[in-house]
Amino acid sequence: MGYLPDGMPLPAIETDSAGFWEAAKRHELVAQRCTDCGAFRHPPMPVCYNCQSLNFEWAKVSGKGKVWNRIIAHHPVHPALRDREPYNVVLVDLDDAPGVRMVGNLIDCPNEEVKVGMPVKVCFEDKTEDITLPQWQRDDKA
Ligand code: ZN
Repeated sequence: MGYLPDGMPLPAIETDSAGFWEAAKRHELVAQRCTDCGAFRHPPMPVCYNCQSLNFEWAKVSGKGKVWNRIIAHHPVHPALRDREPYNVVLVDLDDAPGVRMVGNLIDCPNEEVKVGMPVKVCFEDKTEDITLPQWQRDDKA
């Protein structure tokens, strides 16, 4: 168990996102970057929105960012979350991957202290043999 209880539905690994999940399993955060124009994109998709190229790489990123927005959920969206609510969901703007925002939970912070703009860093929650979720912690050194 981690921030999210066992029994939660987990993301499906698809062709476009396989590289992201393989990196997460190694406890590395990556973002898809076009190798023709350099634009980052997330969630993973086959074509660059900027130049329509099909060429990309998985760029390792620092895992540091800022909370761009957050919600506190009081009504569980799945029965497994019944004993977890209220819980937070954050959208994190990555410092070194312009335009990339990743969703997760801020796992070490009371809900009332989750603020827009607060510095955070990635951490990892191993859920199954295949799925490790990138999650977020406060970054007090930022
Ligand atoms: Zn491009």
